[in-house]
Amino acid sequence: MSADVIIKNARLNEKNELYSLFIKDGKFIDIQSLKQKKEEGFKKQNLENKSALSNKTIIDAAGQLILPALIETHIHLDKACIFSRCQLKEGTLEEAITQTAKAKASFTYDDVYQRGKKVIEKAIKQGTSFMRTHVEIDPVIGLISFNAIKQLKIDYAWAMTVELCVFPQEGLHNNPGTFELLEQTLQQGADLLGGCPYTDSEPQRQIETLFKLASKYDVDLDFHLDFDLNPNNMSLPYIIEMTEKFNYQHRVTVGHVTKLSAIEPEKLYIIAKKMASAGVQLTALPSTDLFLTGRDHQYNIPRGVAPLMSLAKAGVCCSISSNNIENPFTPYGDASQIRQANLYANVAQLATQSELSKCMHWISTDSAKLMSLSNYGIRVGMDADVNFFNAQNESEVIATVLAPTMGLKRGKITFERKEVELFFPD
Ligand SMILES: [Zn+2]
Repeated sequence: MSADVIIKNARLNEKNELYSLFIKDGKFIDIQSLKQKKEEGFKKQNLENKSALSNKTIIDAAGQLILPALIETHIHLDKACIFSRCQLKEGTLEEAITQTAKAKASFTYDDVYQRGKKVIEKAIKQGTSFMRTHVEIDPVIGLISFNAIKQLKIDYAWAMTVELCVFPQEGLHNNPGTFELLEQTLQQGADLLGGCPYTDSEPQRQIETLFKLASKYDVDLDFHLDFDLNPNNMSLPYIIEMTEKFNYQHRVTVGHVTKLSAIEPEKLYIIAKKMASAGVQLTALPSTDLFLTGRDHQYNIPRGVAPLMSLAKAGVCCSISSNNIENPFTPYGDASQIRQANLYANVAQLATQSELSKCMHWISTDSAKLMSLSNYGIRVGMDADVNFFNAQNESEVIATVLAPTMGLKRGKITFERKEVELFFPD
């Protein structure tokens, strides 16, 4: 089988060895090291023979590091870029929910579409090619945001694989009509179901209801959970219990879970082991967690991000994500997952090469496991979704917050970043 795209002189790991990646119909069909080629009598000239390659695209990586595409496991496209419409006084989670609810009342289809489009385009340029977006569903917004994001999913499929996770941000049992709307979205193409028990009048009942609904439609679950720094009254043990009861191992993710940063290592280890054994996965959202938690401290302010390294060592599948871009939950954002991973490394004091590599995996390979992506990775048979970096290894990319120079989705170039030019005086 002959390739239609060839990436040559690609660095794939720490070693100085270079590779050629052969792509056909958007998938890797062969990966060869230059050394291997010589052993097999492969002549480099063949690769560059113009007549033989007239109908192929040849991309010379010139020794750049090629890594699998980046993944946002948790983002909110529907409420992105609304910060200028809100007025923050306290900077608390409660205020963020109230202010967003106020702004949401005037959302229109076109408004949601345009703001979502802005974030998706930013994310593509930052090397992100997969995205699980949460979408708020309630009687005020109805299906407006859902329909706009659904259209974005179709319009940007060339560069971004989008998963829609519908959820009741303002509660389920205290918000009549929400359940029926959630069920409607599951019938109309929602990919999975999210939860937010801490805003519900009956948190445990919300969890149970959502497990039943997810199970009925055979979709995965993703909860906003335990989002404060009080070590008591955690919902996580109940999520673990329900995951086992519904036989939902590796189909349940919990986001934030900042309470885990407030418990002793011995207790953390016990709960982490239970999460690993039940297959409950976790996403840390450092930008939001840092902005909203610890507001009751005047000084010596806690960091308040979930301790991913301890969880990962206990066998929990983890990821890092942006969550919000320019809204009352997170007034900042450039949709760069490299920046989020760097932020997490900084806050969690991770610095060795293996620790920084792990931070890269939390926005790529581990995130792919969390989302059960079956065609992900630089291996024969997988989709050719990759980024190019001017770096020696993964840890350098995270340490120096390096942006990718180019990205491919299913073997097609989706963006290219030119080097910034310096103009020295004559
Ligand atoms: Zn969220």
